Amino acid sequence: MSSAEPAKSLLALEPEELAERVVQLGGRPFHARVIRREVLARGTLDYGSMTSLPVGLREALTAEVPILAGVEADRTVARDRTVKLLIEFTREAGQDALVETVHIPPRKPDSKKGATLCVSTQVGCPVACPFCASGLAGLTRNLAAHEIVEQYVRGRAIGPLARSVVMGIGEPLLNWESVKRALDVVHDEMQLGARKMTVSTVGFPDRVRRAARDRPRFQLAISLHTPDDDQRDELVPSMAGTPIEDILAAGDDWFRETGREVTYEVVLLGGVNDSAGHAQRLAARLRSRRATVNLIPFNPSPDIPYHRPTPAAVETYRSTLEEHGVVATVRWSRGLDGTAACGQLRIRAR
Ligand code: SF4
Repeated sequence: MSSAEPAKSLLALEPEELAERVVQLGGRPFHARVIRREVLARGTLDYGSMTSLPVGLREALTAEVPILAGVEADRTVARDRTVKLLIEFTREAGQDALVETVHIPPRKPDSKKGATLCVSTQVGCPVACPFCASGLAGLTRNLAAHEIVEQYVRGRAIGPLARSVVMGIGEPLLNWESVKRALDVVHDEMQLGARKMTVSTVGFPDRVRRAARDRPRFQLAISLHTPDDDQRDELVPSMAGTPIEDILAAGDDWFRETGREVTYEVVLLGGVNDSAGHAQRLAARLRSRRATVNLIPFNPSPDIPYHRPTPAAVETYRSTLEEHGVVATVRWSRGLDGTAACGQLRIRAR
């Protein structure tokens, strides 16, 4: 390695590479397992606290192997204790490499339950949904698997995790290899079970089918947003021309292959896709399928020309779905004070 090259971070090393590095630094191979357990399962972010390691090894690791690759560029804490981290990964050729990770604690402060972590998979996003701040500037690059794992480690360092949603910046199925590798590490070494992790995608049919064949250890959510083909072409422009029935057929195949139901997500935009008619047409498409619906009222932003739906419209939408036999849940965003919706923290920092 040339002296100009930065040392690989611990999370970027494969377990065998870490064992080799540990031996080079005077430790024993099993110390590598101890270190990974400390970092991944316990959220320990400094070697000095790993008291089961020899002091000399702790000092050598501190000097030679950084645990994390990125730096925390910003942190905001909302009144409800939701923490939004802005993480800057290595700047490549001056490119913006900022992503967001959000740690959402249980609603009750005295709850023993862990938090939900929302992670990003790309720097920027190529899908360009017009209501989303993350898509405004397009895609800069994919995140590496270790950069995705690092978000979990930083989240675990804030507090124990009970669930995770891959719903931050980026389209996970367009960075599938890295997402799969990262979630396998989180599943195996951070003990987040397959039913506790949800990957949210816009639902490219071939990519949904490919992911289903890869033994995925997570739940799938497909962002549908509307039952109408023309409107979906506007709301998810990079999928323009893909009929909604093709997306639903891929969701059916996912269910057949994995045995896990798909959740369909609808970001409700005031006066755009939140009418009772939209709910009836969505119900007609989903009635015969094993699926549930998550309704996410839009989180307004000064940069985005859409509005929050009224609580009455949200309730009418939900009850219309239920009257037609489709189970639906409303998810109002957390952490609205002082911070903002997906992508907005990153845009503000540029
Ligand atoms: S909503 Fe998701 S898919 Fe659409 S632009 Fe934003 S991050 Fe990308």
